[in-house]
Amino acid sequence: MNTSGLMRELLELCRRVYDKGFVSGSGGNISAKDGGDMLITPTGRNLGALAEGDIVRVRLTRNGPGKNRESVVVGSGIPSQEWRMHCRCHERPDVACVLHVHSSYASAVSCLEIDSACGMPVYTPGYSVRVGRLPVVPYFRPGSAELASAVGDHIVGTAAAPGRNSVLLANHGILSVGASMEQAMNIAEEIEENARLFLLLGGRGRPLSETQQAELAGTY
Ligand SMILES: [Zn+2]
Repeated sequence: MNTSGLMRELLELCRRVYDKGFVSGSGGNISAKDGGDMLITPTGRNLGALAEGDIVRVRLTRNGPGKNRESVVVGSGIPSQEWRMHCRCHERPDVACVLHVHSSYASAVSCLEIDSACGMPVYTPGYSVRVGRLPVVPYFRPGSAELASAVGDHIVGTAAAPGRNSVLLANHGILSVGASMEQAMNIAEEIEENARLFLLLGGRGRPLSETQQAELAGTY
């Protein structure tokens, strides 16, 4: 997709995320890969009110996202304070979009003591296929290099574990990635819905078994 098409789709996604109530105030941030750069939402702005001139272009450096943000910005603007986290996730070649939101139910679950390997019980087929195991990243200060590194290890993967498409950030929110913006948004919506069910059920739910989840693989 060319840059103007990408920009239009990114702004539409920002609006959709805002309309869904997945962010409030100036919270949340979204980026889209554009060749060797990423287009990312600016710091301190409401995602529901952005225009093309507000989006910031950041160079995806091969040396990792450790430099200060002024040195990686191409053109003007100040990127989201979570730009390092986005840079790190874009290191995975098939990632086209990184979406980070503070949706209410998922954020509530992120404040519970839950299994850090699985995140939440799996209740529905859609959640099983699109999310399944949701790793929990321990709390780190928003915008910190530590948060970027911890999230990136799960999304990009390590020698010991392949990359995942989503994580729950303890006492913070969620992050999802996709080969398209729609895919990243679908994952975020599945997580929010499963979190809502989890809280509604109050521990009385009957999760899908491992066998039932295995049967679903590749059916969506
Ligand atoms: Zn955040």
